Amino acid sequence: MAIFRLGHVEVRTPDLELCAAYYTEVLGLREVAREDGKVYLKGWDEQDHHSVVLAASNRYGIDHVAFKTEEVDDLEVYERDLERYGCTVERIPAGTRLAMGEAIRFDSPTGHTMEIYAKKQKVGNGLPLFNPPPMPMDLVGIAPPRIDHCLLTTENVPDAARFMSEVLGFRLTEQMVSNEGHQLIVFFERSRQPHDVAFTRGANGGLHHFAFWLDSWAEVGRAADTLRLNGIDIDIGPTRHGITRGHTIYFFDPVGNRNEVFTGGYKTDTDWETITWTEDQLGKALFYYENRVVDSFVSIYT
Ligand code: FE
Repeated sequence: MAIFRLGHVEVRTPDLELCAAYYTEVLGLREVAREDGKVYLKGWDEQDHHSVVLAASNRYGIDHVAFKTEEVDDLEVYERDLERYGCTVERIPAGTRLAMGEAIRFDSPTGHTMEIYAKKQKVGNGLPLFNPPPMPMDLVGIAPPRIDHCLLTTENVPDAARFMSEVLGFRLTEQMVSNEGHQLIVFFERSRQPHDVAFTRGANGGLHHFAFWLDSWAEVGRAADTLRLNGIDIDIGPTRHGITRGHTIYFFDPVGNRNEVFTGGYKTDTDWETITWTEDQLGKALFYYENRVVDSFVSIYT
């Protein structure tokens, strides 16, 4: 049994139309469906129905984060382990939500609603399975091929770390520890990347950002051009993280949810040994070239 990637994030927005326009025309996700106050989006190279859901709401922030596991039978195992840990688990039958198979839904100790599912309708990436070209010809905006990871906030990072590793089976790739030895930021993977999900200190249930993969550092540079051509303010970047080694840009959607484009980093195997950063190196750990803490980055989240 195993979770093997971040499946989707559902994000709230007080302005669904404006966000739908931004996420499709500037970020360049594909709009797959609209239904009941929700817009379903995917990166062009994703095969599954959606990886981002925009949900009309009177506030912003994250509604839930969902992980994809290999087998439907895994749900029973996760359900048992979650209940043993003290979580209340709800079963959501297949067919009750657009394109979704059966899922389990639970409130994690970090204050986030999380889901695990094994099946989501496959819609393909628009390319043939026989002799395909490398990319479609109708991409617009930044056009990331897929979602990559998210960074969530929680009051108790060590508790989050214990939960993610002991209950959900994530591997701790990197961590930042305080001078007293407490975990301040933790990075977890199941997909052999530097991270699928990470946690930093902040209010329970908060969203710091969710990120999309780009294929190269050159693509990150082109993304910066696309953002500025569309009048989108850049929070920081293009630059490089010390943690994960990835190249990055941070920016905000029209209602204030932080987005990132990300590339690079390393491949993690199951025998990966956790990298530790010390608090006095926070500037370099976050932004390797600048080597300083960026105030907005450590203070603003939704
Ligand atoms: Fe990130």
